[in-house]
Amino acid sequence: MDCGVPFCQSEAGCPIDNLIPEWNDLVYQGQWREALDRLHQTNNFPEFTGRTCPAPCEGACVLGITDPPVTIKNIENAIIDRGFAEGWVKPEPPDQRTGKKVAIVGSGPAGLAAAAQLNKVGHTVTVYERDDRIGGLLMYGIPPMKMEKEMVDRRVNLLREEGIEFVTGVHVGVNMEVQELVDKNQALLLACGATKPRDLPIAGRQLQGVHFAMEFLLKSTKSFLDSEFKDGQYISAKDKDVIVIGGGDTGTDCIGTSLRHGCKSLVNFELLDRPPDQRAPDNPWPLWPRIYRVEYGHGESATKFGKDPREFSILSKEFIEDSGRLAGIRTVRVKWSKGEDGRFEMQEIPGTEEEWKADLVFLAMGFLGPEETLVPQLGLETDPRSNFKAEFGQYATSVEGVFAAGDCRRGQSLVVWAIKEGRDAAREIDRYLMGRTMLP
Ligand SMILES: Cc1cc2nc3c(=O)[nH]c(=O)nc-3n(C[C@H](O)[C@H](O)[C@H](O)COP(=O)(O)OP(=O)(O)OC[C@H]3O[C@@H](n4cnc5c(N)ncnc54)[C@H](O)[C@@H]3O)c2cc1C
Repeated sequence: MDCGVPFCQSEAGCPIDNLIPEWNDLVYQGQWREALDRLHQTNNFPEFTGRTCPAPCEGACVLGITDPPVTIKNIENAIIDRGFAEGWVKPEPPDQRTGKKVAIVGSGPAGLAAAAQLNKVGHTVTVYERDDRIGGLLMYGIPPMKMEKEMVDRRVNLLREEGIEFVTGVHVGVNMEVQELVDKNQALLLACGATKPRDLPIAGRQLQGVHFAMEFLLKSTKSFLDSEFKDGQYISAKDKDVIVIGGGDTGTDCIGTSLRHGCKSLVNFELLDRPPDQRAPDNPWPLWPRIYRVEYGHGESATKFGKDPREFSILSKEFIEDSGRLAGIRTVRVKWSKGEDGRFEMQEIPGTEEEWKADLVFLAMGFLGPEETLVPQLGLETDPRSNFKAEFGQYATSVEGVFAAGDCRRGQSLVVWAIKEGRDAAREIDRYLMGRTMLP
């Protein structure tokens, strides 16, 4: 605990500047309620980050230079869980209303954090969500075993009691004119996420059995919540040979979900090389350690099938067909080396072609920015990566009174970054509406 300069709460560590050493010490002193207050000062939703965050703070922990870092994420989780268990977390509606109205499109962590902050200073906030449940990827992306949905509902109910209005089933730009929101509100925040998936346009892509990861994950969670799978409205991996293409959180969640369905076999392709076990020389502390990690899905798969499901340095060449259905994938191994310009280049290794059996393939190769619906309707400028263009720290788009935050502005990222951007955008919207702001 005696870390001198705490890097965990610096730029290299926690994006929302959680006061980590302070609440660690309060917990050590047994002052849990004070620790909770300190935690809520910088984080509206510690129960979300306490469960889902990869914890860049731990990567930047001073103790991590020589030893395993302080388990900051577990402590955060323990503080907020205790806070709820003791009944310390209560709705805190504002004393006064400003009479200003703000509409937020999207109810993921960015939209929810912005709504919480704007409501706190008395603005009247309405959140519009196209899905039937509030929460964005917290609800319909990250699976229930990692982010329990009761916890999302519990926090949304608190926000509701504080005066925020939530409207579901409204796809802004599709079944509601976005201009209506511009006309009826003094500010509009776009927090729509980056939901356009990267495709794999190789031969056989159209075959039955090849799905985007999000189709699998969303339907599985929805069917589970609606009917505990009784409605059959999901893609079942039961007794299937499953291949997940792509790593990251999305790939891991496809693995974990397929296992829970009862899949017959499981393989996970990763185009890049296996990361090193320890930090490489060009990846020093306090940067995020780019090392080989065994996430929950990998560990569970190894327990069930006897080996880590990941195959590294492998390229999918074509899907194999049998009577119109997917039967497998042809692959080749690849080698990565640095080219003359210093950039990594990939080469196929001759003679390493393989065939893999598959009934189901899930594509989890990342996302390409927000969907385009609102761009022409609002006349929004986009950045070169097709995200909504708005300066980090300012969040104002090219359209007067319209702001953007979270994945739709920065590209697919993390829950903690979405909370950071939602909080910051709320501050800038408050400044825009009132000419000054007290929000952090
Ligand atoms: C499968 C998966 C697992 C992940 N796991 C983790 C993890 O473990 N830890 C972590 O930190 N991060 C994880 N992430 C990333 C994290 O979930 C996102 O970075 C974060 O949710 C982004 O928040 P957001 O509010 O910007 O957008 P989102 O959470 O994507 O929410 C956007 C919302 O806007 C709604 N919407 C979009 N357009 C419209 C419209 N026109 N009208 C109305 N509503 C609209 C969408 O339906 C959605 O609900 C994961 C991502 C995925 C895909």
